[in-house]
Amino acid sequence: MSLPDPQLAEVAPGVLAYVQPDGSWMVNNAGAVVGRSGVVLVDTTSTESRNRALLAAVAERSGGLPLRTLVNTHHHADHTFGNWLMPPGVTIVGHRRCRDEVLRAGLVVQALFPDVAYGEVRVTPPTLTFEDSLTLHVDDTVVQLVFVGPAHTLGDVIAWLPGHGVVFTGDLVFHGAHPFLAEGCLANYPRALEEIARRTEARQPASRLSQRLRQGADWIGGFGRGPLARRMRH
Ligand SMILES: [Zn+2]
Repeated sequence: MSLPDPQLAEVAPGVLAYVQPDGSWMVNNAGAVVGRSGVVLVDTTSTESRNRALLAAVAERSGGLPLRTLVNTHHHADHTFGNWLMPPGVTIVGHRRCRDEVLRAGLVVQALFPDVAYGEVRVTPPTLTFEDSLTLHVDDTVVQLVFVGPAHTLGDVIAWLPGHGVVFTGDLVFHGAHPFLAEGCLANYPRALEEIARRTEARQPASRLSQRLRQGADWIGGFGRGPLARRMRH
């Protein structure tokens, strides 16, 4: 069965969401932050062909600006199997546990999901790791990487853009489906989600928030897997 083509949507000025229908196994979302002088990519995807398509789409939309940094939200193969395709000089950033798990897992997913056409894959972990938080500056855009795990995995990181009200959640959020939890931590999952919710709520001044609540408005709060999600208020 063929799936619809991925879509590259601009969710805020210079902030791109790469959405891959239908969000099922090994079909994840990624993103990019485009500055004046370079690009930060948030996650890759699962197969060589999907990753080459992702890089081509971002390069086209950014006018060929150089990739500076790749962020891995967590170690899963559908978010890291494109690491090896980064051009020379790109820094791959992730939590320390993300790096550990990329190296530990290796190519084991190819045995778990043998029907996926992976193409070439070279296991490539983050080259810059952190414990709690790290801030990237994409020219004028601030990207705060915050460890909120363990939840979906041991090394979950969100990428929060406070100036844009956008948060890249990795697989902490599945749109319309229960998140996948096989190797993270159920006990800490609510706290991870609260960390996401707190950031999107804090951006709204109280009076403006109240006004929006009365109007039943919503705003972009984050996206993980499946279609883009807006934080709904009623
Ligand atoms: Zn995952």
